[in-house]
Amino acid sequence: MKNNNYNYRLFAFIASAIFIILLMSPEFSNLLFARPGGGSSFSGGGGGYSGGGGGDGGLIILILSQLPPQISIPLIIAIIVFRIYQERKKKRGEKPIISKATQQNIQRANIGIHNQIETLKAEDQNFSKVLFLDFASSIYKKYFALYGKADFKNLAPFLSDTEIQASITSPKNQSFTEVIIGSINISSIQFHSNIIGIAVDIESNFTRVVNDKRTRYSVVERWYFNRKRGILSADPEKMQKLSCPNCGASSDFTDAGKCNSCDTFINKGEMQWFLKTHNVLSQEVFNTTGIAHYEPERGTNLPTLYQSNLVQNSNIFAQRHKNDFPQWKKSFMNDVVATYFFKIYEAWSNNNLNNSRNLVTDRLHESFMFWIDAYKTQGLTNKLDDISIRDIEMCSIETDKFYESVTVRVFAQSLDYVIDKNMKVIGGSARKPRSFSEYWTFIRRTGVEKDTFDYNTCPSCGAPSDKIGMSGVCEYCGNKISNGDFSWVLAIISQDEVYKG
Ligand SMILES: [Zn+2]
Ligand SMILES: [Zn+2]
Repeated sequence: MKNNNYNYRLFAFIASAIFIILLMSPEFSNLLFARPGGGSSFSGGGGGYSGGGGGDGGLIILILSQLPPQISIPLIIAIIVFRIYQERKKKRGEKPIISKATQQNIQRANIGIHNQIETLKAEDQNFSKVLFLDFASSIYKKYFALYGKADFKNLAPFLSDTEIQASITSPKNQSFTEVIIGSINISSIQFHSNIIGIAVDIESNFTRVVNDKRTRYSVVERWYFNRKRGILSADPEKMQKLSCPNCGASSDFTDAGKCNSCDTFINKGEMQWFLKTHNVLSQEVFNTTGIAHYEPERGTNLPTLYQSNLVQNSNIFAQRHKNDFPQWKKSFMNDVVATYFFKIYEAWSNNNLNNSRNLVTDRLHESFMFWIDAYKTQGLTNKLDDISIRDIEMCSIETDKFYESVTVRVFAQSLDYVIDKNMKVIGGSARKPRSFSEYWTFIRRTGVEKDTFDYNTCPSCGAPSDKIGMSGVCEYCGNKISNGDFSWVLAIISQDEVYKG
């Protein structure tokens, strides 16, 4: 009996390990490099998995080992068989029935989240998805930048005590740098009697430094934000600056969480969102050594995901701007989408992102910079020649009190290859064009009417756009233009196989 039990445990352990590997691998098999939008994906190239790093794996072992063998062994086998079956199915290519079901599920989940956001906007007219995700990104980046450091206390109003405690007790020989957010999405909103909770999924990569050892990780995390119900969201200035929720001064707090400017103790969640807790959904060691490696393009043939109430939203948009919608749409596609597309691709291909700085948000620019640097470090350049657009489709229009956003799907093709210092092609093809599609999301401040401008200038003052730095501020007029306050800026590029609407 004892022996049996031992064998069972060994079996359960091995089976669980196999299961976890199967569970984790498909998510990370989308190694796609090249192109500004994460064709250079945020999954790493060939790095090993960090084993139990994904918190769920350990939990599964724990649960399985608690169950009696007569239940857990068949369960493990069933899970493994199911997983292998799924993998096989996937490998057979994108069968219409599978992708259709997936797309339907995505569409359904979208409508759910869209409805939740509308419910939230109905009770908080100031709620803006654009601003909220901007806020969540700022917290995320500050969290890692300050983790384990004394200044972490300045995040006190925005983090639960447990999160703060974790930083205080964290090893002091460890720090995090170069945090790049790849994608950030609201995954659900929950309404409780006094509290609203928003779960945010963040795909990112960062460098963890322990003593002098640097390791880069690619992670997917779920961050849970809470706030009191029945209040209005802070205005854009407070959301964008991470300032004191009470007086608006830059975040400077005592250890106890009192603002050094207004002397007010900020009760978490009373006026502003705070991070209740977060989970690491997956984690892998990331490296860019495979940066010149190309995977076949996926998702190009998937049907386009349209917002369910696109027609209605288009009408609202047309009324708001008093425009003839088909006419506006045509000029938006040509003069904004296509022009930005070519300018951004050209800037990328020439390793000179200054030329696209006036067209993109800070977050997107940072992620472009990261990839351009990754290529440069290895003496490589990603060239995109003969680029052409085959089609552009309007997919979604969203408006709130502060922002408008428009998402289109761009179908294009180009020669896409990587050259080394000697101009030798080491990845991709300089002869055979590659077809692809991407979803591009543009944002603009509500109330702004300017659709187009001379794209070599600052949209605010018209001076040359050569002096717009990392922060997106024009040195000539001092205005921050990367928030979409003066005209459209590109905020998100999603690959077709991961776009969720
Ligand atoms: Zn204050
Ligand atoms: Zn300017």
